[in-house]
Amino acid sequence: MIVTRFAPSPNGPLHLGHAFSAVVAHDLARACDGRFLLRIEDIDGARSRPELAEEFRADLAWLGLEWEEVAPQSSRVARYAEAAERLRAMGLLYPCRCTRAEIAKIATTAGPDGPVYPGTCRGAAIDTTSGRVAWRLDVAEAMRRAGPLAWVDALHGEQAAQPDRAGDVVLVRKDTETPASYHLAATLDDAVDGVTLVTRGMDLFAASHVHRLLQALLGLPVPVWHHHALLLDAKGQKLAKRRESGSGGAGLADRRRAGAAGRALAQALRERRLPAGITLSESLHPAP
Ligand SMILES: [Zn+2]
Repeated sequence: MIVTRFAPSPNGPLHLGHAFSAVVAHDLARACDGRFLLRIEDIDGARSRPELAEEFRADLAWLGLEWEEVAPQSSRVARYAEAAERLRAMGLLYPCRCTRAEIAKIATTAGPDGPVYPGTCRGAAIDTTSGRVAWRLDVAEAMRRAGPLAWVDALHGEQAAQPDRAGDVVLVRKDTETPASYHLAATLDDAVDGVTLVTRGMDLFAASHVHRLLQALLGLPVPVWHHHALLLDAKGQKLAKRRESGSGGAGLADRRRAGAAGRALAQALRERRLPAGITLSESLHPAP
């Protein structure tokens, strides 16, 4: 059975890009009589606004989608902590206090998500008893233990896993109360929720290399991925969450309240008929 999910963070209103992503995930599941899940990724500390989750449900219903909602991330933190502890016990995590600005200064290579952390704190004696630290994955050692890995993107074919391209990613963040970064939380959640087809935008393609490695380390089932094209604004930029404007009027809740037809919008997105000023990024370009 195909199981897909839409997993928005309630830190800003949904926009057309989210609608596209939700429609893609919904339709892929429905085409095979599968399940389409909604998971609220609400572990973003003070940036998470619970009232937005209710808006998201209203947005999805307005688009004419039906879903099963699974537990929000905020209810799963014990599982994240336990997984982090397992990786720590395996000697695969190390503490780091470097700030974003410091990393930008010392990084010598650029990865898919900006400057690649050069591993400064790996093997260093960092006092973890006072103040907060982030915990990073020792990717080289993790890859050595896991051996060669591959994963399949339904649109882009088989990929040899290259998690080292992103450097030693943070698995436990220091800036929130939550014992997990996106990488760790999403990977665990998809396994627990039985997601078999992970659908998301091409901007997260590189993250999937890391997630494949985490699945190997933690003994999790391996899904298939489907990285879809992104909706771009008139400047060719990926649509972004903006609290006030809802992405220049592209916010779903704004459209819904203004009386726009949600099902018609969903159908237009299915047929790649996009509103003026919005384009679709090339979906089948070589893997980044
Ligand atoms: Zn560091």
